[in-house]
This record gives sequence, structure tokens and C-alpha cells, in this order.
Amino acid sequence: MPLLLHDTLTRTPRPLTPLDGKTLRFYCCGPTVYGPAHIGNFRTFVAQDVFRRVLEFGGQPTLHVRNLTDVDDKTIRDSQKAGQSLTDFTRYWTEKFHADCTALNLLPPHVEPSAVAHIVHQVRMIETLIERGHAYATADGSVYFKVTSFADYGRLSHLEDRELKLGASEATRATDSDEYTKDSLADFALWKARKPEDGPNFWPSPWGEGRPGWHLECSAMALEYLGEDFDVHSGGIDLIFPHHENEIAQSCCATHGKFAHHWFHVTHLMVDGGKMSKSLGNLYTLEDLQKRGYSAAEVRYVLISGHYKAPLNFTFHSLDAARQALQKLAKFEKALREASGETALFEAAQLIAHGSAGPLQEAWDTLSDDLNVPGALGAIFGAINRTKPASLSKEEARSTLLSLHFMLGALGLVLPSVPEDSTADIPAEIADLAERRWQAKQSKDWPLADTLRKELDAAGWIIKDTKEGYQVLKK
Ligand code: AMP
Ligand code: ZN
Repeated sequence: MPLLLHDTLTRTPRPLTPLDGKTLRFYCCGPTVYGPAHIGNFRTFVAQDVFRRVLEFGGQPTLHVRNLTDVDDKTIRDSQKAGQSLTDFTRYWTEKFHADCTALNLLPPHVEPSAVAHIVHQVRMIETLIERGHAYATADGSVYFKVTSFADYGRLSHLEDRELKLGASEATRATDSDEYTKDSLADFALWKARKPEDGPNFWPSPWGEGRPGWHLECSAMALEYLGEDFDVHSGGIDLIFPHHENEIAQSCCATHGKFAHHWFHVTHLMVDGGKMSKSLGNLYTLEDLQKRGYSAAEVRYVLISGHYKAPLNFTFHSLDAARQALQKLAKFEKALREASGETALFEAAQLIAHGSAGPLQEAWDTLSDDLNVPGALGAIFGAINRTKPASLSKEEARSTLLSLHFMLGALGLVLPSVPEDSTADIPAEIADLAERRWQAKQSKDWPLADTLRKELDAAGWIIKDTKEGYQVLKK
């Protein structure tokens, strides 16, 4: 059964089958590499990772392209503030981004093109748009896309609902800001003439020195790596307008294709009920949370635990709940191993061949219905509550173990180690302290690990590190 996925354009769930009959090709707008990505950004990247995993675990090969925005207003501004070249500055933040992606168990995209490496492709696209009457150059050497020249402008973001209808007589203003406000119709910049504040960051073009506008890079790189028509395009909901609207306009006017055939948007992560923003001081990075003793696996669990179409409210309570949930999964996994006598790690191909089968079939079916992760997790915990590993036959335990790993693989969840004496009566707050101390150790936060060990000691417990993890013992 193909994955059913909501499509922003048609506002309906639609089954996903590859246009070329073989590989499902999709493009994700990547990070702007001018600072650390926050966990809101990662909500979108993690949802896209689950999307890819569900396709691949369902036997569907994929081609995943995710770009790096390494030239725009923000990267230029902040590289200069930092006194670094744009290349050095964006390389540093790209490496940081990759390290976070690895920690969060994100599969690397098959292609990760950067905007700076595709200036020529962008210039070529602008030339085509001018030739076809969809773009115009201005006296200062900038080039703008003429939004009234594209009749379908506004279909994705449903402009008609915002009473921003396009008409031939309607005057649109031109803007060269990369990110303009939600309710303005604007001819947007394809090429920005060089300004003094750009410093050394400019490239030659038929219209003079300058740099591409932000929206263009995704159109040019999607065309290069996925062609004129491809299966899915994705990003956070803030990108629907103007970014994705502009991408559609540029691509459809510069080629004979329809661009993306399906649009997958992830709703925002909120913090304590409000928007996450730098000015409110409620913006968290993965590193911030690791410093507080939480693991990347716990962060990933929180980020996937809400449906991607609904806003998700991040709280520290949700991280604590994620810890408990992962521990419960890990204990079940351990009990299944003991009941089956199985010690091997499983290959992805072996898991895919086995599938979700048995008690976890419902979880997989739920996941395949518009990536309903909370529903799938609920089905997994339902099965855990109903299943007593010790009363299963060896074969049943092994089959359930394989199905569990199939689901964990599709969700990209990595289980924590289970304290060896997990059956002993360890109070929840002691188990929690011990796990936080373990995570602090994993993230090399030695002072925190030490403090937590002392707290355990004061409460009458000692912690012993073992090859597989740790053991909590009564003094
Ligand atoms: P940026 O680095 O700003 O270009 O954003 C990278 C990705 O993160 C884009 O797909 C954004 O739509 C997405 N994004 C930004 N803020 C949030 C948020 N609070 N929750 C979920 N996704 C977000
Ligand atoms: Zn984009």
C-alpha cells in the first residue's frame, strides 16, 4: 500500500507513487547556515526523515535532495559581523548542522547542493525567464520576477482566501528582501545588484555584479537534480508563502514541467505555548538540551511525537516523558531478546523483509496513513501492554523483536541502554537521576554527571558503569 500523505496544494491526502515508476524523488528546503539550527528547524528535518524512512521501509527507493542556503541576506550580514569570509563562516555552521543531524539520527540526503555552488544554474534560469517575458531587469542591475505574468500564482498558499487576488491591472511592488511579509504581493528579486554592504560577496552576470535572490536557488537546484517534474517538495509551513509560491512560479515559467506534484509541509514547533524566537529567549538548540542532560534520542522522540500537521508544544515535561517512553521500549526490547535468545543486530534489509507483522501491524498501518506518528506510538505501547515476552515462544518472541526493530527503524528511534538490574525496585526518581547522569556522561558534561552521581549517593544509591551501560545499586 503506498504511503498516504496530505498535499498542501489540493488540501487532501493523496497516495504517493513515484512519477517515474521507480524512485520517489523529493526536495527539502535546507538550513540557512548562519547560526545553529534550533529544535524548531529540526522538527521539520526530523519529520522529513521519518517520511523518507517510511517510504524506504515500505520498500520504496527514494532520491532525497536537501540544499544548503549559504548565500542570502542573513549569511552575508552575519559573516561580516563575525569578520569571516562567507565560505569559512557557512562551512563552520554547515559542519555544526551535520553534527546535529548525525546525533538526531537523520539519514543524510543523497544530494546536498549549495546555493553558492550553483550560481551559474541560477543565472541561466533568470535568462530563460527574461526571454519568456516573466522577468525584467531594472536600471540598477537587479532582476525581478513579474508575478502577474503567472496566472497560477497563489494557488499553493490559497491567496484567494486572503483576498490578494492577482489581476492584470493590479499594481505589485517590487521587493528585494529575501523574506517579505505574509500578506504582500510583490515582484520578487531573482538577481540583486551588488550593494556596498555585500562586501566581497558578488558574482558576475549579464546584468552586472550581484547575487541571486534566495527563492531562486531551490528552483535551480531542484531542476538540476530532480528534473522539471518530481514527486514531493517539503519544508516548514512558514515557507508556503512566499518562498514555495515563488519557487513554483519561477520553475513553471522557466520549464515545461509542473515542478513538484505533491507538497508536504510541517507545522511549527512552539515553546511553552508561544512561538520560538530569539527575542523571547525561548529558542533551544540540541546542544542546549544536551547540556541539561537530555539525549539527542530523547529530543528526536519529542519532535516526532506530535502529528506533523498539528503545532507541537515543546516543554521539558515532554522530554522527561520521552525518556520514560524510550526506557519502556528498551525494556520491552530487552525482554524480547531474553525470551528469543536472539543477540544479533539486524540488517535493514532483513527488517524490511520481515515487516511490521503480528502485534505491530496496526502501528505500521497507522504510520502509513499520513505519517501518523503519535497514533503509531500509541499502537506500539498498546502492544507492549498486551504482550508478556516471557510467555511467548522463542519464535514468537523473535518475530515480535524483528517487528519492533522494523518500527524503530521506520521512526529512526535509537534505544537507550537498560540498567542491568532493571527488574529491581528502583524508584522512578532514582531511575531518572541515574539516566540523566548517564546522558550527561554521554554528552561529556562531567560537572553535571558528577552532581547527579552525588545526588544519587545522598539518596542511598550507587551507580556502576558497565560495558553495556550502567547499573543502579542500593548502598
Ligand atoms: P531556515 O534555516 O530558517 O531556512 O529553516 C529551515 C527549516 O526549518 C525550514 O523548512 C523552515 O520552514 C523550518 N522551520 C523554521 N522554524 C520552525 C519551527 N519553529 N518549527 C518547525 N519548522 C521550522
Ligand atoms: Zn527552498
